[in-house]
Amino acid sequence: MKAAVLRKPGAPLVVEDVEDPRPAAGEILLEVKACGVCHTDLHLAAGEWSLPKLPLILGHEVVGVVRGVGPGVSNFKEGDRAGIPWIYSTCGTCEFCTSDREPLCPAIVVTGFMVDGGYAEYAKASAEFAVPVPPELTFVDAAPLYCAALTPYRALKISGARLGDTVAVWGLGGLGHYAVQITKVIGARVVVVDIDSSKLEFARRLGADFAFDASREKVDEAIRSLGGAHVVLNLAPAPQAVEQGFKALRRGGTLVLVGLPQGNFSLPILGSVAKGIRILTSAVGTRQDLREVLALASAGKIKTVAETCRLEEINSVFERMRQGKISGRVVIEFT
Ligand SMILES: [Zn+2]
Ligand SMILES: [Zn+2]
Repeated sequence: MKAAVLRKPGAPLVVEDVEDPRPAAGEILLEVKACGVCHTDLHLAAGEWSLPKLPLILGHEVVGVVRGVGPGVSNFKEGDRAGIPWIYSTCGTCEFCTSDREPLCPAIVVTGFMVDGGYAEYAKASAEFAVPVPPELTFVDAAPLYCAALTPYRALKISGARLGDTVAVWGLGGLGHYAVQITKVIGARVVVVDIDSSKLEFARRLGADFAFDASREKVDEAIRSLGGAHVVLNLAPAPQAVEQGFKALRRGGTLVLVGLPQGNFSLPILGSVAKGIRILTSAVGTRQDLREVLALASAGKIKTVAETCRLEEINSVFERMRQGKISGRVVIEFT
């Protein structure tokens, strides 16, 4: 099969022929129809995280058609539509797996990081962790839901954001474009902050009530003048965004960290405690969160804004992503 392979961190991916994967017990084989390109893939390709596997096929927003079923699989059959998220598998029995926190499982196996992912014509999946693609969705629309929508969905869920609240979303990338729409579904007022003014127009089209340019204005002041944010969702890959977001919170507000810039942040202890600020983190989501987000999309409540590319174009897509030039998601489409 054809795949885009990471052979050397920091070097371009190599599109080449590699051996087809074979499903083992408990696994299914997917003919990949679409795979979203996530910012995390860029971190992995650059070698910013130590890689447990090389050569590696990236891609954890993988959807396609089941073409093979390993022994012991009863929940999928050939011809079914299925998708694979970031979590390839977990142990299923630890305290985290049994308490709605499977992303924290110490035995987690990660798609496109610890095992090969979807930048390829075929990919393997654990049948227990693959989730069906609803019939209402095209493969291109469905693929980014498996990470880019799942992640802010979970983060908003744990934030406790409610009807009428003000939710400020820092960073309007692939995740942010879903975060705006999910926040509207909750019935909260959405404020978007980005440093690229073209993204602010995009945010308004998606339904944002306010959109501010952090490179031109004091956004924390602007948000405080609206009453302050009940929830700040930080999706921006910049440590200073965390500090800005903190200042935009109202009393009792919640800061949720999702974006993964390198480095540290510092927040005032007295200011946090005296104002009753909650600071949370959230990474991806559970299979149940994913089913819920797929249901929202099939009901037409959230929509994917995506452009498609061919597998061979992946390195130029990475370059545009590095420059922050992408609105919504880029999805590799296999035809
Ligand atoms: Zn991702
Ligand atoms: Zn576990």
